[in-house]
Amino acid sequence: MTLYVAAYDTESPRCLDAVRKIVAVHEHHQMPATFFLVARAVAAAREEYVALLRDHPLFEIACHSYTHMVLRDTPEFGKAGPLDQFPHEIVESKQYLEDTFGRQVIGFRPPVSAADGLRTAPEALRLIDEAGYEYVSSLAWGPQWSLPALLVRPFTYAEQGYPRLWELPPCGWHENLLKGNNRCGPVRILLFPPAMPETIPNDYVKTPEEEFAYNNKPFIDKALADDMPQVSLIWHPWSLNLFDPEMRMLHMTFAYVRERQMPAGTFADLWRGVAHQ
Ligand SMILES: [Zn+2]
Repeated sequence: MTLYVAAYDTESPRCLDAVRKIVAVHEHHQMPATFFLVARAVAAAREEYVALLRDHPLFEIACHSYTHMVLRDTPEFGKAGPLDQFPHEIVESKQYLEDTFGRQVIGFRPPVSAADGLRTAPEALRLIDEAGYEYVSSLAWGPQWSLPALLVRPFTYAEQGYPRLWELPPCGWHENLLKGNNRCGPVRILLFPPAMPETIPNDYVKTPEEEFAYNNKPFIDKALADDMPQVSLIWHPWSLNLFDPEMRMLHMTFAYVRERQMPAGTFADLWRGVAHQ
């Protein structure tokens, strides 16, 4: 049984308008979601975020750092920030979100994520465990830092000394890069030979239909065919709103999830399922 998990890396001031629309779409479809929130972005519009998300029965509040500081070096998307800032990004962010939303935060997604999750980020892992997170969702790239991120089953960080801490990987394109929404020009992120050639368009996708056809549908179909525990695409509210202000892609995706009769839940639901099986 594959659990469909909608999730949003909510990270910039441009996300707020988008989150208003996203919340409405989720209410329309009665579709759960996890919001990975950057604490600083919440602090800039605290009342609005509280009104939208606090005590909402459909939504999980999770953490996406305090300032979106990168926690490990990446080939093209930034170098790790200073170690002495890690507690602020990992621990104080959690406390801020818990105070703001009045509920426990058990999940963390690091900015940019990594091709091996947090296997090679020992200081981040240590603080994440110490802070009391139950899961991270950080394996969001394919082999050699390629995109799309392939389907990877949940695992624990037992090898690194944290048997209680789960990795719950998302999959697919970072949709902002599939659309060229970062305006950073061409990037070296394709694998050859490609693992899923049906997910590689000839150019940036131009419509919500193309996004669905090249990213969402093939990953949902493959997750079901492979009997994956989870399928969760990598979405950013600011980028969704820039590309598709009517949020048609979300409507299409949620309708497809219902058509395929998939159960839907949050990352916290997925964690409860895998950690207690
Ligand atoms: Zn982010």
